Amino acid sequence: MTKEIYDVVVIGSGLAGMTAANILGRAGYSVLLLEQHYQLGGLAATFKRRDGIIFDVSLHGFPVGMIKSCRRYWNQEIADRIVQLPKIRFDNPQFQLETTFDREDFTRILIEKFGIARETVVAFFDKARSMSHYDDQNLTTRDLFNEFFPNRLDIVRLLMEPITYANGSTLDDPALTYGIVFSNFMSKGVYTFQGGTDLLIELMTNELLKNGVDILTNSPARKILTQNNKINGVEINKKNGEKLQVRTKVVLSNANLKGTIFNMVGSEFFSNSFIKQAENIRLNNSSTQVYIAMKHGFMINEEICGDLLFTSTAPVFDSAKLLDKNITSRTFSFYYPKTRPGTDRCYVVSSTNAHFDDWNNLTESEYKKRKNELIAQTTNHLAKYITNLEQNIDWIEAATPKTFERYTEHWSGASFGTKYEGLNISRNLNNEIKGLFHAGSVGIIMSGWLGAVNYGVIVANDIDAFLLK
Ligand SMILES: Cc1cc2nc3c(=O)[nH]c(=O)nc-3n(C[C@H](O)[C@H](O)[C@H](O)COP(=O)(O)OP(=O)(O)OC[C@H]3O[C@@H](n4cnc5c(N)ncnc54)[C@H](O)[C@@H]3O)c2cc1C
Repeated sequence: MTKEIYDVVVIGSGLAGMTAANILGRAGYSVLLLEQHYQLGGLAATFKRRDGIIFDVSLHGFPVGMIKSCRRYWNQEIADRIVQLPKIRFDNPQFQLETTFDREDFTRILIEKFGIARETVVAFFDKARSMSHYDDQNLTTRDLFNEFFPNRLDIVRLLMEPITYANGSTLDDPALTYGIVFSNFMSKGVYTFQGGTDLLIELMTNELLKNGVDILTNSPARKILTQNNKINGVEINKKNGEKLQVRTKVVLSNANLKGTIFNMVGSEFFSNSFIKQAENIRLNNSSTQVYIAMKHGFMINEEICGDLLFTSTAPVFDSAKLLDKNITSRTFSFYYPKTRPGTDRCYVVSSTNAHFDDWNNLTESEYKKRKNELIAQTTNHLAKYITNLEQNIDWIEAATPKTFERYTEHWSGASFGTKYEGLNISRNLNNEIKGLFHAGSVGIIMSGWLGAVNYGVIVANDIDAFLLK
């Protein structure tokens, strides 16, 4: 049941959309949360297979800041389930090591294993931590590394590879985006949600309902309605064929930024200069994943695999190679029964950054063949770390950039929103059309679980100020 008029309509229930809806609902506004998929969470998703098999799509690791954000903007129960992943491992031709992935441990490794002077390490960490949105955007991450660790491709790999996996950024992106994300992780390491993404989304849904947010799933917003450069309402084409319109003065889109501007609003409603800038926004890359459920009771050796394993066969770090369809680098996430207490299954999810175009426009048989090759290469590689792997796999399947596009409607299946220039466009929608806001993965710093939640908070505050005015 929906009302005819809402203070705010949120389009999309990714972590940014849900967080903003929760804050606004809690503040007493009437909020409608629309989701085109049948379940909430966006990329923070799970999917189920036979015999209780359940896979987490994007629960690999996030910074400690999630605890504070969840406590403040969700509840204590959610915050209390966030626990550290202590064993982060690297295995590549340049080095093998294990770390707790925090500043103290990285300092030790850089000094003892890579022979860097303590002052240089301290100066690098201080510089990374001091970086903000206001820094010089022309300084690239490559420049930053050259300043502190010239010609040290092994150190670049150590410092960059996990961040490239975390948000798809490259050495050519602004150094400030690297500095902010790296410092977030370095604050206290890498964290996960105990109980799995399904429990997180269930707890968040309960909180949304408690705060009076109306939720409609299977309900894609197809048109954001405007009148005289102001938001007027939203047209919804429910998947059961029903069409409905709701009136509102504020729309917060958590959907893809370009899709919001060009598909849902329409470029004719924006100024020419704004549209030109919006057209030039580059989307971040997408990914492929291989999901593996081990047989009941088969235990993966935690001492060998750890929690997160960054593997590569490439001789040196190379952003382009990380995206290449001839895969040389994979991140393995290992999930032990402790991730979902009470179960006796281990899972592995292998992730690799990927180009949408390498998977688009294939014939059905080519697409299937490529997926099967991806699965075969992945198990081949994983067998190095898990003995008797093949005999103990219960279920295995792959997802591609096309999969992410289909389930979230993100253009080109972008896993991490847009490059840095997207942030400015996302922040300025309300200057073009009064009452139009966006929150979701943009600009690298606002992507990932923590970035998305925090962006939801920032934009909920903007909307509160807008409505109070
Ligand atoms: C494979 C993979 C692994 C990842 N691993 C990690 C990780 O380990 N750590 C980390 O921090 N981050 C990770 N991420 C990134 C992280 O999951 C995302 O950055 C974050 O979840 C995005 O949240 P969001 O709020 O931007 O919205 P999204 O999750 O992008 O959700 C947008 C929502 O809007 C809905 N929607 C779109 N159009 C419409 C419409 N017209 N009407 C209604 N609803 C609509 C979509 O269905 C979706 O639910 C990963 C991402 C991927 C793909």
